[in-house]
Amino acid sequence: MHLARFNPVRFAHLPTPFEPLPGLTEHLARPGGGGPAVWIKRDDCTGLAGGGNKTRKLEYLLGDALANDADTLVTQGAIQSNHVRQTAAAAARFGMACEIILEARTGSDAVDYNRSGNVLLDELLGARIRTVPGGTDMNQELAKTAAEVAGRGGRPYVIPGGGSNCIGALGYVECALELVAQANEAGLEIDRIVTATGSAGTHAGLVAGLAVMGADIPVLGIGVRALKDVQEANVYKLARETAALLGHEDRVTREMVVADCDFVGAGYGLVDQAVIDALKTIARTDGILLDPVYTGKAMKGLLALSAQGEFDGETIVFLHTGGAQGLFGYQSELEGKLQ
Ligand SMILES: *Cc1c(COP(=O)(O)O)cnc(C)c1O
Repeated sequence: MHLARFNPVRFAHLPTPFEPLPGLTEHLARPGGGGPAVWIKRDDCTGLAGGGNKTRKLEYLLGDALANDADTLVTQGAIQSNHVRQTAAAAARFGMACEIILEARTGSDAVDYNRSGNVLLDELLGARIRTVPGGTDMNQELAKTAAEVAGRGGRPYVIPGGGSNCIGALGYVECALELVAQANEAGLEIDRIVTATGSAGTHAGLVAGLAVMGADIPVLGIGVRALKDVQEANVYKLARETAALLGHEDRVTREMVVADCDFVGAGYGLVDQAVIDALKTIARTDGILLDPVYTGKAMKGLLALSAQGEFDGETIVFLHTGGAQGLFGYQSELEGKLQ
């Protein structure tokens, strides 16, 4: 696999650490020797203004933007979007302007949700921000903003929500390569990778990367928004497109794409007690900070499935996709529930 031909620009701190989670492993041990051995891939440590999974995607997307001589990044996300924060930082890093459209997707009117956490950092990073109501056609808003930028003589580069197209997903093809190399070096056989799956680029890139290299490691995506059928279809389509870029579309099969969307709860970005319990659990077993929207929900799923015996005897890798900066946007929801 020859990723250099896509000309990524380099700014992420890679490789990210790959570590065992002794505390969580002990916490999940079940009578009779059941329960998984849990490792963590620290993609919360990619280094770009707090880091997270969008940074790997942005290395490839920025490579493409610079090759197209763009001077303005245009993207969108929910108000507490980690993708938007990392995109604003990448724009700053490369001397580009950044136009952001934020969707009030959760309907929250809490001051911390609307002003703190990632939004505060977007402003600090110098992005121009426009907020639209939940349910707005965000692709249309992206096109409108790009036309405005072009109309005033700028050269826009549109990055879809979550950076999830086949160029962005190449960042997670690279993560798959990196993870398999680290496992080989550690002499560790991985039975399953568990990750949050949202706009699909992370899950699709991993599946495509593992399939194209023939690694034969299953990936379990824990959904944070869509229903299972929709999520798996989105991931499959993007994984095929990504593998096609690498010249091996046929190596990705439909069975390789598995999402469990039973842990979404009341909806995207909405926190329930099981999410709070998941945040507390890993904070206290291993000192790891997760986020309320993605990794907290994925950990809610991992804990529940583990209690059902789903991972008994397996070595699993939890992909930490970042997002702890969003905790501060949820202060009023978490306060008083952390004891
Ligand atoms: C965006 C994001 C995800 C989901 O990744 P996708 O590629 O959009 O599926 C997971 N975790 C965090 C912290 C994120 O910001």
